[in-house]
Amino acid sequence: MKYIVIIGDGMADYPLDELDHKTPLQSADIPNMDHIASKGVNGFLRTIPPHMEPGSDVANLAIMGYNPKTYYTGRGPLEAASIGVEIENDDVAFRCNLITEEDGLLIDFNADHISTPEAEKIIETLNHVFKDNGKFYNGVSYRNLFLYKNKKSALLKSTPPHDVVGENIKINLIQPFDNEIAQELNNIMTDSKLILEKHPVNQARVRNGKKPANMVWLWGQGLKPLMNPFKSKYGLDGATITGVDLIKGIGIYLGLENIDVPGATGYFDTDYNAKAEYALKGLKHNDIIFIHVEAPDEAGHAGDIEEKIKAIESIDSKIVGKLLDELPQFNDYAVSILPDHATPIMVKTHTDDPVPYAMMSTSKIGDEVRFYDEFSARGGSLDIRPGHEFINSFINYSNSP
Ligand SMILES: [Zn+2]
Repeated sequence: MKYIVIIGDGMADYPLDELDHKTPLQSADIPNMDHIASKGVNGFLRTIPPHMEPGSDVANLAIMGYNPKTYYTGRGPLEAASIGVEIENDDVAFRCNLITEEDGLLIDFNADHISTPEAEKIIETLNHVFKDNGKFYNGVSYRNLFLYKNKKSALLKSTPPHDVVGENIKINLIQPFDNEIAQELNNIMTDSKLILEKHPVNQARVRNGKKPANMVWLWGQGLKPLMNPFKSKYGLDGATITGVDLIKGIGIYLGLENIDVPGATGYFDTDYNAKAEYALKGLKHNDIIFIHVEAPDEAGHAGDIEEKIKAIESIDSKIVGKLLDELPQFNDYAVSILPDHATPIMVKTHTDDPVPYAMMSTSKIGDEVRFYDEFSARGGSLDIRPGHEFINSFINYSNSP
């Protein structure tokens, strides 16, 4: 049996006046997703456990079969894995943004999308100055990493910089403010300003009319997650296909192969056809492939209805359609389509609503549902389940007599 899971990031939505009170999934032309829904079974997954932030990392960890309540430690460790940095058991991995500060305010959480070579020079300086505090690692552009040897720092409260753009820096530093470890980390952040302000990279950026990367921002910290490999938990060899570091990082911890697809950008311009082609190739030596597509989420964040429908239709025709055409070469196969979470146009950010999922398997009988969307799935044969039960339910359904 071969399994394919197609994750349209943020695909689920609410009804919109502009679409005659339909959701983007209901309005889009998606014959192939509808095929999965009508040949298979349908229901809802609660991919975000109660009291957890509706992040893509949390949701995708659940979809891959691991309860985020138990296994999620933070974004930092997942990013560390994706850039190949090993975390020791006493390390806490912080995501380290290069940001722009101005007059005490956080002006830009990505320092004008600073280039990777520029960021490398800045990280080199930081490692020299803060060598007694911890170690910085290069990632991509403004997304870098800081390893800190103090386990207690994992429990502190840090703030995602993209949530506080335009706000006062001081009130958004690591809390509690009277905690000694928080103070050391906050000093690294505020002292970095003094050093980076006059860094040659930033002087050149300012001359060229770009915002300087004049401060670091530490957040999303966590200890190394201890996850047993996907293969030993579910007995399947698996792989991920994604343009997003966090999802790749989860796969690495689970021992999944990461299939690099040229042209997988994690944005609207991603190469949908290539993702399907590489999935089919990867399926020759894997049992299960997770194909993650970021584009609908980006459209949701931008509040762009047209772009969201276009992204959903591209997933349908170029990925789902192509796979449904080609999968019969494997005889027994199963396909599932789902979002990780909703990114409704109206709210422009993630929500923790249960998401509709459909799964079909060769020769299995389906339920009454005929279309794939947030409302049709209510007539499905599956209850609302916790997201981390998805893999077991997919495997059991596909192998049921
Ligand atoms: Zn997501």
